[in-house]
Amino acid sequence: MIEINRNKPYFVGNWKMNKSFSDLENFITNVPSADCHQWIAPQMIHLHSFREMTKNQGPLKVGSQNHCHEASGAFTGETSIEQLKDLGIDFTIVGHSERRQLFSESNEMVNKKVKLSLSHQLPVILCLGETLEERESEITFNVIEKQLKVALQEVSGTNFERLMIAYEPVWAIGTGKTATPEQAQEVHAFIRSSLNELYGESAQSTPILYGGSVKPSNVKDLMAKTDIDGALIGGASLEFDSYNDLCKNGL
Ligand code: PEP
Repeated sequence: MIEINRNKPYFVGNWKMNKSFSDLENFITNVPSADCHQWIAPQMIHLHSFREMTKNQGPLKVGSQNHCHEASGAFTGETSIEQLKDLGIDFTIVGHSERRQLFSESNEMVNKKVKLSLSHQLPVILCLGETLEERESEITFNVIEKQLKVALQEVSGTNFERLMIAYEPVWAIGTGKTATPEQAQEVHAFIRSSLNELYGESAQSTPILYGGSVKPSNVKDLMAKTDIDGALIGGASLEFDSYNDLCKNGL
């Protein structure tokens, strides 16, 4: 079982709805060489194959981008946490802003997903983030606090140990517009203190990743901040060279 802590940075690639089957093999002909946690979330349909292909790839861990908010039943087109666990995946991502915006995922649905992952002992990356409009209306902290508190309702202290957070300002995702390291750190510190209120000292061990146009060229400055423990990466994780450079530069 994977232990979650802040000893080494996490660089998590979210491949979204990209890549063909043959692209998977091309990606893993090389192994990322940096001393960090290297995690990739390919498309659901490729999870099994990618998991098999990377079995001997040492540090490379494979996870899902999403899963159903219910355990089983009549949910056409969905995938359950139990089915994902059967495939031997290492982690899940929930509450990505694309899921919230394009598929109407509410904080309450995200809460169900977090609880399902944690009750199956799967590390879960909970994504939070404000829109541009919310930032400009100066309600960023209110939005983040609500997303966090509702998503963690009924999550106990023991289960909490496998929780990770990704702060992803919506205005920075796929736009080339990154939050400054100071903007990101300000929100990360707020998230850590909110976790501290909820779970006490153990919040010091929760990794908080930043996501939003992270690239090999800007990762170093972001990672220099106290509460930034890694990155959730879309575009720059798709090609091996860029992902590998990002991991190396982020150490
Ligand atoms: C993401 O998909 O979570 C993301 C941060 O994408 P990008 O790095 O492309 O902005």
